Amino acid sequence: MPALEFRSADARFRVHVPGATVQRLLHLCRSSGMLETGGILVGGYSATLDCARVSAASGPSGDSVRGPSSFQRGTRGLQKWLERRWTARGDHYLGEWHFHPYAPPVPSNTDLQQLGRIARTADYRCPEPILLIVGGDPAGKWLISAHVVPKGQTAVPLQLIQSPADHFAPCWSSSQ
Ligand SMILES: [Zn+2]
Repeated sequence: MPALEFRSADARFRVHVPGATVQRLLHLCRSSGMLETGGILVGGYSATLDCARVSAASGPSGDSVRGPSSFQRGTRGLQKWLERRWTARGDHYLGEWHFHPYAPPVPSNTDLQQLGRIARTADYRCPEPILLIVGGDPAGKWLISAHVVPKGQTAVPLQLIQSPADHFAPCWSSSQ
């Protein structure tokens, strides 16, 4: 599975999702059937801080509430998981992801409001959280959308870089 890379029109924000993370997201979505699912994203930033690399995605915690067109992420066990990732890999919280089963990966107003709240909540230490949404059929024709929701600003949609046609060097090489 190739990595996916997204960038904002002004190239201020870039998000790199390694192939293994894409596979993990699709696996979690396939196991969720017709219900939404989701979790948190962890990883790191490039030295120039303009590129976030999503190195892992959590599944839904046991206290999450999953519906056919709604998802409320719970919190149970996630703090421990974050601490383990931090200790083992230096990963920190980057944002949220969820699944729109057999629907477009377009964020709802609720989705964007939730991210805006996270950007403003000091405890997350994440003023520019990322939102990844998986849409479509996770076993067939799927799509992933990416947004950044900077604190106090409206959500910035990121475009998938269709390399090599777009002539962008990846912001995160596999050797990093
Ligand atoms: Zn949603």
